[in-house]
Amino acid sequence: MKRRTFIQKTSVAGLASSFMPMACVQPVLDTEILILGGGVSGLYLANLLEKTDKDYILLEGSNRLGGRMFTRQDINREVGGRGIGDRYLQLMKLIKELDINMIDITDYMREPTAVYVDGKLYPQWSESTTNPSRLQFKALGKVKQLTALDEWYQRPDLDELYSELLKSKGLTEQELNLVNISANYNDIRETSAINAYHSMAFRKFNGSKRVLNFEGGTKTFIDAIADTLSKPVLKNKMVNTIDDSDNKITVRCNDGSSYKAKKVVSTLPFTTLRDVKMNTTFTANQEKAIKELQYTAITQIHLNHKEAFWEHDKTPLSMWTDTPLERIMNVSSDPVEKEIACWINGKGTAFFDTMSETEIAKYTIDKINEIRPSSVGKIEYLGTQNWGKYPFNKGAYVEFGVGQPSWFKDMIRPTGNMHFAGEHVASKSRGIEAAAESAQRVFSELMNKK
Ligand SMILES: Cc1cc2nc3c(=O)[nH]c(=O)nc-3n(C[C@H](O)[C@H](O)[C@H](O)COP(=O)(O)OP(=O)(O)OC[C@H]3O[C@@H](n4cnc5c(N)ncnc54)[C@H](O)[C@@H]3O)c2cc1C
Repeated sequence: MKRRTFIQKTSVAGLASSFMPMACVQPVLDTEILILGGGVSGLYLANLLEKTDKDYILLEGSNRLGGRMFTRQDINREVGGRGIGDRYLQLMKLIKELDINMIDITDYMREPTAVYVDGKLYPQWSESTTNPSRLQFKALGKVKQLTALDEWYQRPDLDELYSELLKSKGLTEQELNLVNISANYNDIRETSAINAYHSMAFRKFNGSKRVLNFEGGTKTFIDAIADTLSKPVLKNKMVNTIDDSDNKITVRCNDGSSYKAKKVVSTLPFTTLRDVKMNTTFTANQEKAIKELQYTAITQIHLNHKEAFWEHDKTPLSMWTDTPLERIMNVSSDPVEKEIACWINGKGTAFFDTMSETEIAKYTIDKINEIRPSSVGKIEYLGTQNWGKYPFNKGAYVEFGVGQPSWFKDMIRPTGNMHFAGEHVASKSRGIEAAAESAQRVFSELMNKK
């Protein structure tokens, strides 16, 4: 059933536009296609449209391009998505076209990992039966996999709590607590097992053998796509209203500017789209998905090392821990240089949400010093990236709760003059490849191809 709805929230965005003085209101710009969001999906769609006679404007809410692909220049670290499988077909095509050099990080990504549980440090992960990552993959090894990449949203029989699936494969409640540290979800006791089925299917059918990073960082890739565009992306254009009640669709931004177009493509994560006032026709499932879909929270705490302390205690640098720091790992794309980050997934991120940067720095360094006395005086704080609270994404990737995969078919359908691209609306791939897959689908929709 289709319903005309006006999703309205008293968001800062909404208030800003309602009280914008008339003098600030700028003339309405007209185009054929308006793309909302300058992450990889929006940029790739613009790149595809460049090869046609379609006129478009791309609006990005923040002051930079790339969205969740983010080279943070203030701390000289990659803080978002960057791992590309060598069989990410859409992306590899684009990377080739842009002539970007890639670095193969597969071998040193698999460097040994220690485990720290209940106050005990296990230098070899194979020595520990309490390894959070190992426990999860051992249980998943007993799970019957999907037979096709896009089967995941069509299997209500498999749509149960992820914790229940793992329990049925022999994990105890105590082991589930450990798995919750390593699983890439907010909470395995709240998320659907379907997310894990989809990830497994993507690994199986996508068949990537190698993991690649961009030489020069993800900014090189993002800048290279932007360079293919004949007109600049308009930045600092935080969209607050989408009105599809006329023969043209009108989009308004926080700075008072307005745009009219025949078609609008939203690549906005649903976490930020739900803050936009929308006058358009959604199905009930689309409306629920926009309002309710969750995104996984991730907080990274980046550190510098003054000395290779792991050479002194003969224990691998990377380790899983059952402390609030969860995972401490090498995140470098270089085979020799190490870059340390603590990587906290899901609900564990709340521990750091109310802390100041100074408090985070102190807590992190003290805790690592406690776990690894050889690190005393050898590490310093660089910066924190809190994706759950980052206003332009409010989460790292989409995560379906039980019952929600059944919304997916409707989520990706165009409604009125509005189309949906972005990582969350790809039926096959995951991550960056999903963003590219969805851009390709919307491109076909716009060109009236199947
Ligand atoms: C920490 C982390 C690690 C990851 N690791 C990997 C990995 O190794 N491999 C992998 O494949 N994937 C990974 N991902 C996922 C991958 O980065 C994303 O799937 C992909 O970048 C999403 O691209 P997108 O264009 O769909 O969305 P986004 O990049 O989120 O783009 C959406 C854009 O819309 C803008 N926007 C939001 N709201 C508004 C508004 N109201 N008005 C205007 N603009 C707005 C945002 O600023 C943003 O630029 C990771 C993600 C994170 C956070």
